[in-house]
Order: sequence, then C-alpha cells, then structure tokens
Amino acid sequence: MIAADPGPALRAAVVATAREMNALGINRGKSGNVSARLAHEGFAGYLITPTGLPYAEMEADDVVAMPLAGDDRDAIGARLPSSEWRFHRDIFVARPEIGAIVHTHSPFATTLACLDRGIPAFHYMIAIAGGSDIRCAPYATFGTQALSDHAVAALAGRRACLLAHHGMIATAPSLQGALALAVEVETLAEMYWRALQVGEPRLLPDDEMRVVLEKFATYGQQRPA
Ligand SMILES: [Zn+2]
Repeated sequence: MIAADPGPALRAAVVATAREMNALGINRGKSGNVSARLAHEGFAGYLITPTGLPYAEMEADDVVAMPLAGDDRDAIGARLPSSEWRFHRDIFVARPEIGAIVHTHSPFATTLACLDRGIPAFHYMIAIAGGSDIRCAPYATFGTQALSDHAVAALAGRRACLLAHHGMIATAPSLQGALALAVEVETLAEMYWRALQVGEPRLLPDDEMRVVLEKFATYGQQRPA
C-alpha cells in the first residue's frame, strides 16, 4: 500500500490533460485515455484515467494508481483503470524516458490506421515523432497483451505510433508534451489524408530526413521557428 494520496498535483494534471484532449478536438466521448508515470515514496507505477467515466465528470480522486509490476488486480483507488492499461504499463516499463502517454481515436490518425497505413516522410515535421515515419502497429483486440506488444514494437525509436483499426498513441516526458505531440500527429495525419485525395505525395529521401532529425535534436526537440 502506498501513502494516502500519491501525487495529488499529478492526478489533477491527468484529469486536465484528458479534458483538454476533448477540448482540442482530438478525442470525442470517453474513448481515449491518459497516463503519467508516478514515482512516489518507493512506489514505481503510473496514474491512469479510469474506465467508463466521461471526462467532464472525472475528478482527481477518480484517477487510478497502478504499479509497473502488476496488473489491474493491483489497482489502487475506487475506480477501475482504463481497459488499455496494459500498453500504458508496458510502454512505461520499456521506455524509462517516457513520463506520460496520451491515447486517442482522433479522426484523421484513426482513418489512416483503419487503412493499415502509417504516416511516411511526406512532410519534414514527421521527425517530431522521433524518426522518418510514424508506424502503424498491426491490429489486435483492445486491452490485450498482443495489442500492447504491437504498440511497444511500433514505438521503437519513436515517440508516437498509430494502432491499426483503432487509434494512436503519443508519448513524452511530460503530460503537456504528450498532448502536444498527439495534436501534431493528428495534424500530420490530416495533411497526409488531404494529400492522398489529390495523389500519392512524393516522400522526402532518407538523407534529408537525417538532416531534419539532426536539427530537431539540436533544437531540443522544439518545433523550429
Ligand atoms: Zn483505444
């Protein structure tokens, strides 16, 4: 058992991020979910939005604490965690640099994902996700270990991925960073989708994407002016 109220400010930030996701138009209803790594007095885990609760009704106390070494039977709190807790847990375990995860069924990213298409280097900003493309993980049933395994693999060397016939995942050291990346990925997905209405866009070559990735690293992963 952990101390009475682990990370109260972080709980509030998880709720605020979930609500902002809807306000920004990248999520509708309660299909998405949000998590933040929680290291607290020897507790190694994460906070995650609960299942089946509209964000408008969600309070900080509804956010569920979960250990990294455990499953939903180890959930701490009055609510049950999001049904997608497995990929949140496995991403935090696999990627120590990641502090927050946003998952959403945003319309354009999900449209591409429903066509089993990732987002290639049609635009240089694709590098914001960490590489020369944003992969689309193969389909597996929501909430399963198979889906989690596919997601972790698709995120290798990346900060975001699509999930076939499902949605997208964006990660960052912070909640604000993960939310901002989710907005960027959705924007890129929309641009790519629009380009595909006219034709098949020519892709930037690998050597140019290497230059862009190097510049992004130099700028501390900030969007260049
Ligand atoms: Zn989902």
